[in-house]
Amino acid sequence: MKRESYTKIVATIGPASSDHKTIRALFRAGVDVFRLNFSHGTHEDHAARHALIRQIEEEEGRPIGILADMQGPKLRIGTFANGKETLKRGQTIELHLEKFVGDAGKVSLPHKEIFAAVRPGEDLLINDGRLRLRVESNNGKVISAKAVNGGEISDRKGVNVPGTVLPINILTQKDRADLEFAVSLGVEWIALSFVQTPDDIHKARHLVRGRSRILAKLEKPSAIENLNGIIGLADAVMVARGDLGVEMPAEIVPQIQKRIIAACRKEGKPVIVATQMLESMISEPVATRAEASDVANAVYAGADAVMLSAETASGKYPIEAVRMMDRIIAATERDPDFDSVLHAVSLPIDETDSDAIASAACDVARNRNCAAISTFTKTGSTVRRVSRLRTLVPVLGLTPEVTVARQLCLAWGVHSVRTRDDVESFSDMVGKSTRIARREKLARNGDRVVITAGVPFGTAGTTNILRVAVVGEHEHPEDRASLA
Ligand code: ATP
Ligand code: MG
Ligand code: MG
Repeated sequence: MKRESYTKIVATIGPASSDHKTIRALFRAGVDVFRLNFSHGTHEDHAARHALIRQIEEEEGRPIGILADMQGPKLRIGTFANGKETLKRGQTIELHLEKFVGDAGKVSLPHKEIFAAVRPGEDLLINDGRLRLRVESNNGKVISAKAVNGGEISDRKGVNVPGTVLPINILTQKDRADLEFAVSLGVEWIALSFVQTPDDIHKARHLVRGRSRILAKLEKPSAIENLNGIIGLADAVMVARGDLGVEMPAEIVPQIQKRIIAACRKEGKPVIVATQMLESMISEPVATRAEASDVANAVYAGADAVMLSAETASGKYPIEAVRMMDRIIAATERDPDFDSVLHAVSLPIDETDSDAIASAACDVARNRNCAAISTFTKTGSTVRRVSRLRTLVPVLGLTPEVTVARQLCLAWGVHSVRTRDDVESFSDMVGKSTRIARREKLARNGDRVVITAGVPFGTAGTTNILRVAVVGEHEHPEDRASLA
């Protein structure tokens, strides 16, 4: 199945989307990467979802990316007998260190760090900041707080204490166990929450030991201060606006989002924009104008992917939300001004053969109206260098490594295909490119395809060839003669 868009879609799987039929429908509606959120659910739940996604991948014949999101040191309230309660403005609620099932008047908050830190007059923000509670008293075991605004409070929602630095380690005991479990399932991406320094990535890499790639979630002010160091070490990045918008004033989140996307594009690291993108679709079948505008804004900025959280995990309209997102992406990318908006920032080309070839391939693709840029890769690196240039021509990423094909599902404009084997010769290179481009419906006979690869064939880290081929021609061994 061929996507019509360049910008990718990440969708969180949860109780509203855990059966074969729904996951397949989500995939068909446009999801490229599924997110398993280890903040919720058991290992068995995640293993079952993982297995279903792999089964669907097999049935649909397309690589699908899977991202396992580690909870990190996120503070959460406990549960309610009714699952949720509605607080009126001015209503008082007690938060107890003790664990129990809550009601309208009290809920458990099993985090002694909070009781040690908060003072009367300070605020606790619940559910990515949607509900604000002002602390009236704190005796170390019970905090009494008043709702500053009214709203719903429900099971296991996150709690932020803005302005207060809590002593936290970004990989908790639970995260280490979850990480090991996720890696053993074979996920392509491990997402680290609340990354603060480049050293956090180092530490995680040590635990992951090359078994998956590492995505840094940027949601702390300190991560923004260390932005370039973190982007340099991570394999990908997420603008995690839920916690970010609570930890910093909401009004500066848009400029931080812009700055992160620009920095990631410069480095060629995939970047996802996440949280509340189509929030109202949790309960409504249509999105608001503001939400459509938010998604479009991320697409104009050149983000690799946009993400859905509760919309697909626990909302009423998971498939509609993906369809809506897909429509917004497609419409934005069809804007005649899209290309010029996208390229308002010019990117430096590294002084490497690989970057020079990537850039030349994009020029040829544009000037010769090519149907695809076919790029052979062992590690995915060359494909990412081409994707980074954001040329409005699909990038056919060809790799014998299934993991790499799946990882590339996150990269802007990339249609990855796992090839049966390595390229062996020039004619094989041309033949594979043109045949696969046609089979995947990226090109038809007579269309031109620009190809990049490396000689000697099959070695990682060499890209030194650029070739233009016509689909339907040059698919025979005599092609070798013309290149001798
Ligand atoms: P994070 O900080 O990692 O984003 P979150 O609680 O905001 O954590 P999201 O995945 O962003 O989680 O949003 C999903 C919503 O769906 C949550 O509010 C959660 O209550 C609900 N949900 C319930 N079960 C699950 C599940 N198994 N996976 C994901 N979300 C779930
Ligand atoms: Mg989070
Ligand atoms: Mg969230």
